[in-house]
Amino acid sequence: MKNIRIIGAGRAGKAFAGALQEVGYRVDGPYSHSSDLREMSHGTDILILAVPDRSIAETAKSIEPDPDTLVVHLSGATDIDALLPHPRRAVLHPFAPLPDPVVGKDRLLSGMRFAVSGDIAVSDIVHDLGGRIIHIDDSARVLYHAAGCIAANHLVALMSHAGRVGALAGLDMDALLDLARFTLDDIHSMGVQDALTGPASRGDKDTIARHLAALNEQDRAAYLAELQLIEQMTRHVLQVPGFGHGEGVRATDILLQESRGTGSRDTSRDVEVVDQAVVLQRRLEESRSTGMQIGLVPTMGALHAGHGSLIERARRECDVVVVTIFVNPLQFNDHADLDRYPRTLEEDLNFCQERGADIVFVPSVEEMYPGYPAPPGSVVHVSGVTEILEGAFRPGHFDGVATVVAKLFAIAGRCKAYFGEKDYQQIAVVRELVREMLLPVEVVPCPTVREADGLAMSSRNRNLSPKMRKAALSLYRALLAGEKAICSSAGIDVAKKAMVVEMEKEEGVLVEYAEIVYADSFVPVGNKLGNDGERIRLLVAAKVGDVRLIDNIGVQCYHRGTGRI
Ligand code: AMP
Repeated sequence: MKNIRIIGAGRAGKAFAGALQEVGYRVDGPYSHSSDLREMSHGTDILILAVPDRSIAETAKSIEPDPDTLVVHLSGATDIDALLPHPRRAVLHPFAPLPDPVVGKDRLLSGMRFAVSGDIAVSDIVHDLGGRIIHIDDSARVLYHAAGCIAANHLVALMSHAGRVGALAGLDMDALLDLARFTLDDIHSMGVQDALTGPASRGDKDTIARHLAALNEQDRAAYLAELQLIEQMTRHVLQVPGFGHGEGVRATDILLQESRGTGSRDTSRDVEVVDQAVVLQRRLEESRSTGMQIGLVPTMGALHAGHGSLIERARRECDVVVVTIFVNPLQFNDHADLDRYPRTLEEDLNFCQERGADIVFVPSVEEMYPGYPAPPGSVVHVSGVTEILEGAFRPGHFDGVATVVAKLFAIAGRCKAYFGEKDYQQIAVVRELVREMLLPVEVVPCPTVREADGLAMSSRNRNLSPKMRKAALSLYRALLAGEKAICSSAGIDVAKKAMVVEMEKEEGVLVEYAEIVYADSFVPVGNKLGNDGERIRLLVAAKVGDVRLIDNIGVQCYHRGTGRI
């Protein structure tokens, strides 16, 4: 009969104590590893250190070496030298979970496998337990352990995922476990390739897309990760050639995109909401690496049909549509205006989802400006086009716009960015920013969306009383008056005057400017129009009560006649 001593009274220590006793060992312990351990190797044939991996080396060192005693640890990931300075060393790793002492004991006696290395005498313990031996080189020990963790621990996580989704359909864990058992049997008898069944093995993208559309955000992310594993096994099946993005398109991205396709979109599913810049950056880099086109729609929220038109256009032209919602304090020169700016995040998220956005980026002010309210360390200034009109009436406004847009472009990377012509000067500023800084962004201008009576949609319209709302219409009327004057060849000054008069007719409207610029250069038009076919822009800004509004229209001038563009 052999004497064996065990240090470590956790699940493994207790399970080994019970099993070894059962097969005829005289077992001493298990001892807590906080006991006095110095003498522990004396007076026993075998000393087992059943302590946590991180304590093995320290525990071994605290025990006096004995030339006759075999010292063993039970860790799968720790190499044998952790047992120095003991002269007789071995590793005995049970290749099975030992979740508690009773189950563990039975399992140790069930003919299971043990990985061994070191002193050959350790094999006797395996034989005595009725087990089978796996020989693992110390150099392969970590990979061996990783494989074991995947098969055991990751399987638990997979089943937990299946259980979570199943519970939503009223399916209990037992049913899923039976299914998993059949699958394990199949893997055992046929091997992994043949055991793989289901939509992923058949390349049935429609079904997978329907799964993705039905899952909530958390479960969808897990499903996609799992799908990538399947993809590694069945790349030839899931890869969809000729999808329009060339070779190497990841099936998971395609499927995700299909599940979000515009026509049959399942609107019960949440859009992905991201609030960290690096998360969005990585997410978009990954999509782009598979050939996907990113569409970016920067907004300040309080979304309306004007924003909607940008999102829908991006949806038509891009694979991944990102709407950003951030009320950028840096572009408000007036604190009261910032405080009053409408914030309707919940509605906005629904709106983005309905219009087909994939991701909504809602950073905190600290995320965009670490150290806020201290001024940011770097501010982007675009010169020239920022000096007139909005730039003159709102000092610092365009520095705020250029800074936040530069940051959003840095986060989004190569993309198409959608901006509304409602903020015409802003587009000129952003174009200049892109040109000067060589940013990999295509700026896409989108026409102004108006209410039925012509009022340009604006988030600020929410702050208008019914009376102010009526007065606000004078901005559009002013643009029409300007257009009419130009069409009748009345001259630029007359047209500008007509615009001002139209707005001033309305009580409570304080005109800030009425200007006409060349559409491409944003340079004010002198009193005489330039070349035939020149595109010009009529722009107005006014305060209606305490709400500041802007609007503009485009006109193309021909000496033969002039028309709206
Ligand atoms: P905002 O949330 O006001 O910063 O606007 C975000 C984007 O939506 C900007 O590119 C605006 O030009 C655009 N936008 C705002 N109102 C309209 C509108 N009525 N029609 C088209 N685009 C708009």
